[in-house]
Amino acid sequence: MLTRYAPSPTGHLHLGHVVNAIYVWGLAGATGGRVLLRMEDHDRIRCRPEYESSILEDLDWLGFEPDAGLHPLLRQSDRDDIYRDALERLRRTHHVYACECSRKHIAGERYDGFCRDRGLTEASDRGVRVRIDEGVETFDDLLLGVIEHEPVRQCGDLLLRDRDGNWTYQFTVTVDDMMQEITDIIRGEDLAASTGRQLRLRQMLGGAGRPRFAHHPLILKPGGEKLSKSAADTGVRDLRQSGLTPAEVIGRAASAVGLIDQFTPVPAHRVADVFRDWPRAGRIHRASSR
Ligand SMILES: [Zn+2]
Repeated sequence: MLTRYAPSPTGHLHLGHVVNAIYVWGLAGATGGRVLLRMEDHDRIRCRPEYESSILEDLDWLGFEPDAGLHPLLRQSDRDDIYRDALERLRRTHHVYACECSRKHIAGERYDGFCRDRGLTEASDRGVRVRIDEGVETFDDLLLGVIEHEPVRQCGDLLLRDRDGNWTYQFTVTVDDMMQEITDIIRGEDLAASTGRQLRLRQMLGGAGRPRFAHHPLILKPGGEKLSKSAADTGVRDLRQSGLTPAEVIGRAASAVGLIDQFTPVPAHRVADVFRDWPRAGRIHRASSR
């Protein structure tokens, strides 16, 4: 079992990232698996080196130690050649095309294929998309159960590189999970909707086998919104400064999503213990996530 912890250096770590770390290191620890660290800095505009160092420092302070990807640090921004090669491979068997539509132009999440047959030449101010065919993708999520997605209805033709020249999240994460031979993808529920399109893209890239998925609950603010990286009340830095220990921060995150019934400090090297009664926790999450 090989899973990954894949933060984006677009902000500091907050309790939501700690929840993900508990699941990633906890499930890996409970099943004798390994954790790969991957810095998802494909977006050159939003990512900053100071966030990268603060994430690494906070992870180290919390005590979450990756088995690979730290020395040297595995960064998406160093893998441009790999994404380029993957794009060339895709081109041989699928319809890859330039798209000049702006985000404003595309109402909602689904792209209608406007540029598909326009024969635009690829240029630095144009995006690159790949045609997605009809069909349903099904996967059995460890926490959410069986899920069916229809990528052509949800998102249409996938954007691989945007108009600013950045490789997209969907493309880089699919290429990386495939090439780094990740067997278990453990991430927040907000990314569950991306799974069908990533499975489809993986097949289109010739990826053998399929990873397992576990999409876990997120910490929500009282109003129901997701935590943001600027949320000072939940930032790991701020909690550190207020005098909390690493085990207290982890315990706070674990209790916020119901992984433990009552707040109790949990040191990073004991997060696998949280999953001792995993079937019970799994049922609770399954019921609450619908
Ligand atoms: Zn277009």
